[in-house]
Parts: sequence; structure tokens; C-alpha cells
Amino acid sequence: MLPASKKAESSEQCPLTIDSVAKHFGGITAVDGVSLSAGAGEVVGVIGPNGSGKSTLFSLAAGGQKPDSGSIRLSGVDVTGWPTWKIARAGISRTFQIPSLFINMTVRDNMLAAAVEGDWQGAQDRMTRTVEMLEISHVVDNLASELSGGQQKLVEFGRVCMRNPKVILLDEVTAGVHPNIRKIILGAIQQLRETGITFLVIEHDMEMVKEICDRLIVMDQGRIVAEGDFQTIANDINVQQAYLGRA
Ligand code: ADP
Ligand code: MG
Repeated sequence: MLPASKKAESSEQCPLTIDSVAKHFGGITAVDGVSLSAGAGEVVGVIGPNGSGKSTLFSLAAGGQKPDSGSIRLSGVDVTGWPTWKIARAGISRTFQIPSLFINMTVRDNMLAAAVEGDWQGAQDRMTRTVEMLEISHVVDNLASELSGGQQKLVEFGRVCMRNPKVILLDEVTAGVHPNIRKIILGAIQQLRETGITFLVIEHDMEMVKEICDRLIVMDQGRIVAEGDFQTIANDINVQQAYLGRA
């Protein structure tokens, strides 16, 4: 857990502040007025049933989609509606549920290509550190297409690190991966959060959520229906209804 002083940051200073964002696709309301903020070094879990708007929320924060209303601020700077590359340079970077690698390029080139959105000068050193942290040094010269699904997830995570982000959004990064890879990912999150990087993680693995998240946000039908620490959420009636069906 973080010291109270870190949690008490005003929303102006917060690395990430999302204020009343909404997104509609035709008649579907994917995100319906969501507000949240996350402090430096904080790990916030975002959980909720399929279709509850979690991935869309990430797209709004990372610039893949523009919100219909509401705002996104990064350390006080309004980045609402900025294109993805510009938001990435400003410091928000995400992974996708399905890794979006250049599969005909080596791991090394995948990593270096991501660095153009961060500090290019330090890219080589950063790559060495990142592949060591993620335990993929032995495959840097392999094509991304030669890797296992779990290793591809590590490279996707590594590409995010190469952008030198202040805020990392992880979308189901441990889904379907081998327990060893899950452990590497957990260790990397711990290591990076200690350097002050803020995380939002969409995660279905409740053991992982319990282990890594300082607090949780539960979404259902585009809205936040509960917020709190793991135990509070586990006992929350709204959460049980969201997962088990409405009366
Ligand atoms: P989650 O990640 O929680 O499973 P999503 O954010 O992917 O949820 O989806 C929320 C809702 O928005 C779903 O009903 C989904 O079908 C819809 N949706 C998401 N993206 C699009 C899109 N690009 N076009 C149309 N509908 C979308
Ligand atoms: Mg999703």
C-alpha cells in the first residue's frame, strides 16, 4: 500500500484524472459518465463483466477514441481528444487485449520502434533493462511471430515501457498466460510502480487483483457501480449483481 501522502494528491497534480467521460456507438452507450483519478505509483484495478465499457474507457484515456463528453487530464494537462501518438508522447501508454505487435519484425525492432514515442537517446539502454525485467533477453533476435502468446504479451508490455510513460493501462495482460509469465508481469508492475508509474489494470484474475491493486473500480453497463479496496468490493451487493445478474 502507498503512504497516505501519495494518495492525498489533489486531482490537479494527479498523473491521471478522468472526468465524466462518455462514449456512444450508435445506440450503445459504452461509457456513461465515468470519473476517476490515480496517483503516482498507484495501481488501480478496473473490473466488470464483458461489455461493461472497460476497454473503451482505456481507448478514451489513451486517445484511440475521442470521448463524446468529459475530459482526460495528464498531470493537470488537458489531453482530451488528442491523437494516440501525442498522448503516448505526453505519457499515457496502453496494451491491447490482443497484442498489436509487428509480427514480421524482431523483438528488438518491435521494442525500438516503440521508443520513437519516448526518449530516443536512451532507447538502447532502456531496451536492455526492459527485456531483462521481462525475462525476454534470450528472444530479442527472434521474430515476434515465433514467440508464444504469453511471450507476445511480454513484448507488448515491453513496448509500453519503451515509451517512457507516466501512466500505463494494461488490458487483460495476464489473460490466458502461463503462471510463470503472470509472475514476471506482476514483478514488473511492482518494480515500475516503485518508480512512480501509475497503473490502471483491467483484470479478470481475482488473485492477481488482490495481490497488485491498491483499490478497485467496478464497471457495469458503462458506469462505475462500486469503488474500494478488495475486501469492500468482494462484499458489495452491486458487484454481486453486476456479475451474477440483476434481480
Ligand atoms: P469491456 O472491455 O468491458 O468488455 P468494451 O469497452 O469492449 O467492454 O465494450 C463496451 C460496449 O461497447 C459493448 O457493448 C461493445 O459491444 C461496445 N463497443 C465497444 N467498441 C465498439 C465499437 N468500436 N463499435 C461499436 N460498439 C462498440
Ligand atoms: Mg475489454
